[in-house]
Amino acid sequence: MAQSSTETDWVSRFADEVIAESERRAPGKPVVVASGLSPSGPIHLGNLREVMTPHLVADEIRRRGHEVRHLISWDDYDRYRKVPAGVEGIDESWADHIGKPLTSVPAPAGSAHPNWAEHFKAAMTSALAELGVAYDGISQTEQYTAGAYREQILHAMKHRADIDAILDQYRTKKAPAKKSQKPVDEAELEAAEGSGAAAEDDGSGGAGGYYPYKPYCGHCEKDLTTVTSYDDDTTELSYICTSCGFGETVRLSEFNRGKLVWKVDWPMRWAYEGVIFEPSGVDHSSPGSSFVVGGQIVREVFGGVQPIGPMYAFVGISGMAKMSSSRGGVPTPADALRIMEAPLLRWLYARRRPNQSFKIAFDQEIQRLYDEWDKLAAKVEDGTVLPADAAAYSRAVGTAAGELPRTPRPLPYRTLASVVDITAGHDEQTIRILSDLDPANPLDSLDEVRPRLDRAENWITTQVPADQRTVVRGEPDSELLASLDDQGRESLRLLLDGLDTHWSLDGLTTLVYGVPKVMAGLEPDAKPTPELKVAQRSFFALLYRLLVSRETGPRLPTLLLAVGADRVRKLLAA
Ligand SMILES: [Zn+2]
Repeated sequence: MAQSSTETDWVSRFADEVIAESERRAPGKPVVVASGLSPSGPIHLGNLREVMTPHLVADEIRRRGHEVRHLISWDDYDRYRKVPAGVEGIDESWADHIGKPLTSVPAPAGSAHPNWAEHFKAAMTSALAELGVAYDGISQTEQYTAGAYREQILHAMKHRADIDAILDQYRTKKAPAKKSQKPVDEAELEAAEGSGAAAEDDGSGGAGGYYPYKPYCGHCEKDLTTVTSYDDDTTELSYICTSCGFGETVRLSEFNRGKLVWKVDWPMRWAYEGVIFEPSGVDHSSPGSSFVVGGQIVREVFGGVQPIGPMYAFVGISGMAKMSSSRGGVPTPADALRIMEAPLLRWLYARRRPNQSFKIAFDQEIQRLYDEWDKLAAKVEDGTVLPADAAAYSRAVGTAAGELPRTPRPLPYRTLASVVDITAGHDEQTIRILSDLDPANPLDSLDEVRPRLDRAENWITTQVPADQRTVVRGEPDSELLASLDDQGRESLRLLLDGLDTHWSLDGLTTLVYGVPKVMAGLEPDAKPTPELKVAQRSFFALLYRLLVSRETGPRLPTLLLAVGADRVRKLLAA
């Protein structure tokens, strides 16, 4: 647990390794790290680790003054495999496009984007901008259709027997799906179906022999094609389409409408781009995984070297509300950025080694997480922070390009959430309450607490279930008030008498804890005893019931400030 001052964080250790490896393999050239994303639907928040892991390493390398390229390969020339559930603006007719490249599938109705891939890429692109991730995006559609990989394709076709032999060593073993990290349930579903990706990925089968290249049909644009012959000398390739029956003979030396199968495509690009670092999900640690097979193919077929490729653990999501599932029920990075600031989200990735799994909280846990984050910031401020924690913090709040926007007055997230819960986002009321928190230091404008305030408001309105929201009573609970004994009445009177002189967060904290002490005949600053704690708990429960008709709620001092002195008097006057 304790970290010595000489120990560096995981990002620094990878940066050391990657710089050394890059200098060995490609002296004087920019360091190349890579990520791959498939815009086959909403890009899952879990997939962000595919980007954040190389991003953090690249950023550290950049901070040390080296030139770095972080490639994000958009696998938008992949086949459209299935119609995702719950995406707005599509219907069953989208199933007609299965088998086409993702860039040839129409975008959901109402989209501002030209096709399916661009539509889902756009949301990820803006999230990455907000997160401060600098990268070179590479569209595989553009690369393939421009003939960028022509030599590599011809080379792979020439060496198809070698590739087939390598793949054959792994075919008997369990073959997992392609690289992209998927939510566990979807991955399990696919495994259960025994379908798709694994079988189609290596180009196996076909009576005409093995071909690592698959054309998209010249008539229906689907990849349900079978290569029937290939001539190494003329590069003439014949295929037939099993979907529409179309067939033709093309010259691969000038044909640009097809792609290498995944298990060959990935190592080809390692060699083509000179990738030094590219992590992948834990599902790739198995013997027949794309990463393992790719290592052999890049070495034996393309004469390249496999990147340093740590496996990263899954990132889970806790408590995302069903009501915000407008994008197919899939939590996306944009969803996370609606309820938390970019530095906090960056910190979650920076502080955990890639092989450690963690959860991103959409539930009450986010409040605790923010408390922890604020405590870390305070330790950085006063110099008591441990070195590894300091490193994670600095990677979270900025990049080599500079600091990310932050909230000028970072009031506690849980306080902001409580206040907007009660005010329902009413600005004037919010500014009054937030100013009352610390009357010596009032707020001039809500901009001082933005964007954190907006994130807290989004969290309250989109993630907190209605039965956990705070609804302040309009009228006193006269029945409950009438049932109080003398003790109860006296405690409320003490509280009301103290309101004016204690109207601040600190003051009200002293007051609400102090009333039960006075009732017990103790001094207001007396140390709490077990009996006193019981008395405090029942006093607090009484206040919650009278103010919000529940046994619990936001912290009482915050709640009292938010309700306002006049209304508190109205609701508590026995
Ligand atoms: Zn066809």
